[in-house]
Amino acid sequence: MSNLLRELSVDLGERSYPIFIGQGLLGNFDLSRFVAGSQVMIVTNETVAPLYLESAIACFPGKQVDTVLLPDGESFKDWQTLNRIFDGLLEHRHTRKTTLVALGGGVVGDMAGFAAACYQRGVPFIQIPTTLLSQVDSSVGGKTGINHPLGKNMIGAFHQPQAVLIDTRSLQTLPPREVSAGIAEVIKYGLIRDLDFLAWLEERVGDLVALKPDALAEAIYRSCVCKAEAVALDEREGGLRAILNLGHTFGHAIETFAGYGSWLHGEAVGTGMIMAAELSALEGMISQADCQRITRLILDAGLPGKPPTGMTADDFMNLMAVDKKNIDGQLRLVLLRALGDAVVTSEASPDNLALTLARFCG
Ligand code: NAD
Ligand code: MG
Repeated sequence: MSNLLRELSVDLGERSYPIFIGQGLLGNFDLSRFVAGSQVMIVTNETVAPLYLESAIACFPGKQVDTVLLPDGESFKDWQTLNRIFDGLLEHRHTRKTTLVALGGGVVGDMAGFAAACYQRGVPFIQIPTTLLSQVDSSVGGKTGINHPLGKNMIGAFHQPQAVLIDTRSLQTLPPREVSAGIAEVIKYGLIRDLDFLAWLEERVGDLVALKPDALAEAIYRSCVCKAEAVALDEREGGLRAILNLGHTFGHAIETFAGYGSWLHGEAVGTGMIMAAELSALEGMISQADCQRITRLILDAGLPGKPPTGMTADDFMNLMAVDKKNIDGQLRLVLLRALGDAVVTSEASPDNLALTLARFCG
């Protein structure tokens, strides 16, 4: 089973593209048919390059392949580091016919994608995501960009890739905390759109934590199906795509409170989903038993189940007030109408929100 090559498509008319998922694809899968010209620029970082650069180059037989190596870390998702990609492209005389390739996690993917959106007013790019989070989330959907000192992901563009190549084997080298953080986003898809998948996850979450290839391939495939559907229905996040933010309003507050980098995004989202479930239950949308199922699954994924010590209800309220989803100062939250069915609402009762925060803070 684990040798199976799975393929799905993100349907966006003439911007449609395939996602390939399999064990051991890096080095064995010919991507040159997705490269229109003769030049390829692989963008990666100093952690990923020693592990996978050589096998990524082997995916482009017959092409001129150059590489740009970025420093590793969210703190380098900035203008200065982005400029290194343009330096490399110009130094190696890459033309408008070049194809950029992102090899790495979401940071590399967002930056290489944004560079592709800008270079010579836009060139094609290919995603080869190597973290679980990037395989199930950031490599699909075409959101690209960098951070500004005053805000995360504030500078960017929509730019869809030509193809996404997901090698589940690359996850074998991923630190366990990064694996669990990725599983949080996987669980999110089950919660918002796919009850069967949620039940499957309850059975197999241990196999995901243990990096069993067949479980990983199945989870990644089903997650990409959910993300691809949401993207196809709402490419530029006008509406439906907002439900992908389940747990993220509480989660962003946690990330900001803890200081970026001390909690991983997925860890904060895990706790945020438990809090969103609690509020959904208080609102009478799901049962307390549903809530317990969600909490158990998130804990089984190796994720934290409560906010950082010392974080108060006031901290949450202040930090959530600046969420991007809010309209005219109204707090908007993604809640669960049922398991497998999410809704964006500004109708949650302030008393129930206060009760939820009181239960989780201290
Ligand atoms: P990351 O890119 O920082 O990767 C995490 C760490 O794992 C890094 O140190 C990286 O070098 C390392 N790494 C990557 N692959 C590895 C491998 N196979 N083996 C060992 N180590 C490996 O973090 P991430 O979680 O992948 O992505 C987070 C970023 O993605 C954030 O900047 C976030 O804003 C962005 N994001 C974008 C979207 C989108 O739609 N564009 C969606 C979600 C998140
Ligand atoms: Mg997220």
